[in-house]
Amino acid sequence: MSFQVFIRSVGGPAPGSAFQVDRNPDKCPICHVSITPIDWTIGASRADGQVMERLLQCPNQACRHLFLARYAQWNQTYALQHCVPSEISVPAQSDTIKGISDDFCKIYEEANKAELLSLKSTSPARVLNKIPTKKPLRRLLLKRCCSRLASKST
Ligand SMILES: [Zn+2]
Repeated sequence: MSFQVFIRSVGGPAPGSAFQVDRNPDKCPICHVSITPIDWTIGASRADGQVMERLLQCPNQACRHLFLARYAQWNQTYALQHCVPSEISVPAQSDTIKGISDDFCKIYEEANKAELLSLKSTSPARVLNKIPTKKPLRRLLLKRCCSRLASKST
């Protein structure tokens, strides 16, 4: 069910311009919590009217980040495309692994993000060639675990 939003902008539509949108984002693009975003009623549309952006805020007290919801015109309604900026969510490591190597956790997280970015990016090879992928990291962790166990048993 679409609904109207009112947007103030500079150099764009007149103050209080109404746009028919299909929906609000239901998840914060930064903390990834399910939300009903706070609408700042500020935004802009491209001169041709094909793209419109709304300034929203995450109500989650631990986050409170501002973000833009980007819509594309579809018939008489603006359909939500995506939100920017967007943080990549990677699963947290267990305390056991964190205890073995904090560096491993940091590198694994970066490799995970690079892998996810490569799915979106048009040139993933450039990113992945510079960052080790997860498989070598698993081997590194296994090697460290074995060396720790060996040192404890002697
Ligand atoms: Zn958030």
